[in-house]
Amino acid sequence: AQRYDEGLKKSRQTFGARINAFLANFRHVDEAFFDDLEDTLIESDVGYETAMRISEELRDEVKLQNAKSKKDISSVIVEKLVDMYGEAGEGEDNSIHMATSGPTVILFVGVNGAGKTTTIGKMANMYKQQGKKVLLAACDTFRAGAIQQLQVWGQRDGVDVVAGPEKSDPASVCFDAVKKAKAEDYDILFVDTAGRLQNKVNLMNELEKIKRVITRELPEAPHEVLLVLDATTGQNALNQAKLFKQSTDVTGIVLTKLDGTARGGIVLAIRNELHLVVKYVGLGEKVTDLRPFNANDFVYGLFK
Ligand code: GDP
Repeated sequence: AQRYDEGLKKSRQTFGARINAFLANFRHVDEAFFDDLEDTLIESDVGYETAMRISEELRDEVKLQNAKSKKDISSVIVEKLVDMYGEAGEGEDNSIHMATSGPTVILFVGVNGAGKTTTIGKMANMYKQQGKKVLLAACDTFRAGAIQQLQVWGQRDGVDVVAGPEKSDPASVCFDAVKKAKAEDYDILFVDTAGRLQNKVNLMNELEKIKRVITRELPEAPHEVLLVLDATTGQNALNQAKLFKQSTDVTGIVLTKLDGTARGGIVLAIRNELHLVVKYVGLGEKVTDLRPFNANDFVYGLFK
């Protein structure tokens, strides 16, 4: 919780500070109040659509609760944000789905630099600590240095890595990794992939091919397709997510670099516009800087 807190410092300083500053000027609830609130939310990367929705629901809630004082209003806002996040809510499944038998396969997708390799390194460490037998597949054969970067993580975590030469066929590397995972009873296989969005069609074909290779060997796999998004890219991250969601069955989001952004509002946008679950958040570059996402902690953390 301590690190979560540290990692959110920037978001709090701005998202929270913006809302707090906005509330500091509070006189009474009128049209201008809601206009300012909308602006503040949009500036915090909550996104237009989500900002309008929050504003609209706040109008109702303020009326309903007859909120008049600054304190009332501020708690209505926090409640509303927590609510909104939680609402898809009850059934929301934040956990990583595991195979009932045989290896669990988790595919990581996302554009270059989003933090896929780093997230795999962190997650592999987490499962290794839990006593799981972990295998990594270096299927980002495109980005220079990506294979080596994954191998370094493998060494650091003390887990095995299947890799081929640079520019080799990623699906073939994946095939070898899945075979090995099955034959040698690995509990979990993490598959890194290339993220060149410039060539969207190629990228999506490549991902489909990798998925087919996995499913052929393990019909229930991949058990998760995690889309890794860089929170510092704000609305861009949202647009990327839309593209990936159209082309692959994304099962959840890992939102990285939340420690480096002033605009934590992106979490609400992802939730409201994409209906995707944020499963993990990255709060730094160290191996321990990965946290399961918790909506309550997140929203309350922003207003501390
Ligand atoms: P990939 O191309 O998607 O595999 O991205 P990388 O894993 O290579 O990450 C790109 C850069 O972002 C690296 O310098 C990472 O150390 C950094 N990075 C990844 N996750 C985080 C995070 O949660 N916080 C911070 N501050 N940096 C991160």
